[in-house]
Amino acid sequence: MKKILAFAFILAAPVLGIAQKNTPDAAQLLRDVKVLSADSMQGRLSGTEGSLMAQEYILKRFDEIGLKPFNGSFKHHFEIDSKRAQVEQATNLVGYIPGKSGKAIVVTAHYDHVGQHDGKIFNGADDNASGVGALLAAAAHFVKHPPKHTIIFAAWDGEELGLQGAKAFLDNPPVPLQNILLNVNMDMLSINEKGELYASGAYHYPQLQPYLLKVKPRTQARLLLGHDRPEQGQNDWTRQSDHYRFHERGIPYVYFGVEDHPHYHKPTDDFENINKTFYPDAAALVIDFIALMDANLQRLPAQNFPNKLKQ
Ligand SMILES: [Zn+2]
Repeated sequence: MKKILAFAFILAAPVLGIAQKNTPDAAQLLRDVKVLSADSMQGRLSGTEGSLMAQEYILKRFDEIGLKPFNGSFKHHFEIDSKRAQVEQATNLVGYIPGKSGKAIVVTAHYDHVGQHDGKIFNGADDNASGVGALLAAAAHFVKHPPKHTIIFAAWDGEELGLQGAKAFLDNPPVPLQNILLNVNMDMLSINEKGELYASGAYHYPQLQPYLLKVKPRTQARLLLGHDRPEQGQNDWTRQSDHYRFHERGIPYVYFGVEDHPHYHKPTDDFENINKTFYPDAAALVIDFIALMDANLQRLPAQNFPNKLKQ
């Protein structure tokens, strides 16, 4: 009997979120954000020298972590459509960890930001060096703990110019679209006085809600659900970052982010102003959720692909 109970516990553990010590290397996380939000990156506007420097750093980290490229390259160029970009080409950075299944979770964070205005550099430490740092931490975690599903890690360009990197990725995906089961998007994870990280999207995809509710609070950060209902107007974040491109195609997503703060799209969105204890715990919550979904995705109802956008 004891044996059976122990066995049942082992089976139940991943479902209940027990024994998930998915704690990222906080020093590495902060280092990544510090480098990506340095003045030398000039605000990482698509098509600039600063953007190229950010790309080089992220590519070096993809290599160190041990992600695999699709067709021999992490770089996926696309044509960017904007008067503000100084060139017509922008660059998504995409790597992956193969799973036992070809079905994929796509983990995303945009690395571009808004560049410079009136002689001031907008460093975008929270928006969205913090999301890229957490993406790298998640990649490092799943290289060490191989996932069941393939996990694709995409650091996108052109978000600030209209979610263009996400659109380019989905217009020309590295795996068939019907193999993409879930998008986990991160955009602004590192500034919140109340220790609150929001998970937005379960209103549209209620099958994800039980799993989000299983993500246990960390010491400095806890998960709240919301910011995804049409009646919330500006506080409905459904269209406010790259996950919207998945939603347009009916692919389930969860967007992780903090509520707006005084540094949002301001030249004060600097490394000095991110919360150094909240941020690593916020990143840990996202990794916990990805691990939970990797263990449980097969329980979700099969997608009716292609879905039509509900609304
Ligand atoms: Zn952003």
